[in-house]
Amino acid sequence: MHEYKKEETKVLERIICNGCGKIIAVKHGMPMEGVLQVRQVWGYMSGKDGQVDSFELCEECYDRMTEQFRIPPATTEAVELV
Ligand SMILES: [Zn+2]
Repeated sequence: MHEYKKEETKVLERIICNGCGKIIAVKHGMPMEGVLQVRQVWGYMSGKDGQVDSFELCEECYDRMTEQFRIPPATTEAVELV
């Protein structure tokens, strides 16, 4: 006799851009488009001590956001693409 325990596994199905609501498909755990994923743990010196914020942005929203920077983001070439 076999007894099975019920296990639930979480599978990432899609990512929704926080900026515009665009749905980014995910296959085998990999987003099918460029996506910025941010997770910020706010520390003691901030006004949000202990707060963890996270959001995702599609590439278009990322471009729109960084275009507003006074100083553009540093850009280098990745040695190994994962
Ligand atoms: Zn977007």
